[in-house]
Amino acid sequence: MKTPKGAALITGASSGIGATYADRLARRGHDLILVARDKARLETLAAKLRADTGVAVDVLAADLTDRADRLAVEQRLATDERIEILINNAGVAAPGTVAEGDLDRLEAMIALNVTAVSRLAAVAARAFSARATGAIVNIASVLALAPEISGAGYTGTKGYVLNFTQKLALEVGAAGVQVQAVLPGATYTEIWERAGQDVTQFPASMVMGVDEMVDAALAGFDRGELITIPSLPDPADWEAFNAARLALGPNLSRDHAAARYKVLTPA
Ligand code: NAP
Repeated sequence: MKTPKGAALITGASSGIGATYADRLARRGHDLILVARDKARLETLAAKLRADTGVAVDVLAADLTDRADRLAVEQRLATDERIEILINNAGVAAPGTVAEGDLDRLEAMIALNVTAVSRLAAVAARAFSARATGAIVNIASVLALAPEISGAGYTGTKGYVLNFTQKLALEVGAAGVQVQAVLPGATYTEIWERAGQDVTQFPASMVMGVDEMVDAALAGFDRGELITIPSLPDPADWEAFNAARLALGPNLSRDHAAARYKVLTPA
């Protein structure tokens, strides 16, 4: 698989993980297309990266939960042949429990974390496969693996991103497209404040700096990893988890119910 050298389109590039990817990819020499809602913030970052690195940086202001805005981004991905990397990063966490949280925020989270991620990945998969090069990086979360400590909607969206990415890799890998899911643990970014949570209440040993998180994710990318969990010390733990899942395979779909579900038919 060729390492993509072309431009990178980064969603959620105005802050946090996305802005850090923008910095790192610019320093690696990639031209950038930065996507988020806050145009002024994107312009400020773009000007800095142009000055610091000399790469070309375009700004595409878009609300990815808005159909027309999202279609404009899809159009750019589909038609700009310079783009070889999609960092599918924009995401939010909706506060509250399913029963008591704001339904509109739940819906908007799904629109961003699931619908936009899926559609952009699909457009990139098509464009990159046709050119037999490119990379799709989907930012999931360790909460995909830990529903007990997450909001139900958020873990649901991130579990979706994990499954989606695992299958996407099987679909486009043979066409020469690299696929990675990044599962960050708690990371110091604005996402917490936006969701009304105070990340400083967590033990400091549980929260990573955003620079270290993105550098680790890129190290995983350079190794061609499908799943990167920046904080996990021993990759064998993930492999054991995945092997346990795969071991269920032969028994997940059979022609008869398991013995414990057999009910006695009344005479
Ligand atoms: P962040 O600093 O809040 O960044 C979120 C980015 O998404 C911002 O650039 C924001 O920019 C953009 N965004 C939000 N709503 C948008 C919309 N409707 N349309 C377009 N862009 C939108 O948070 P972050 O931590 O870097 O989050 C990045 C990704 O990492 C998310 O997918 C998140 O779920 C994931 N993640 C974060 C953590 C963590 O602890 N920080 C852990 C695991 C996974 P605008 O407001 O300008 O639109």
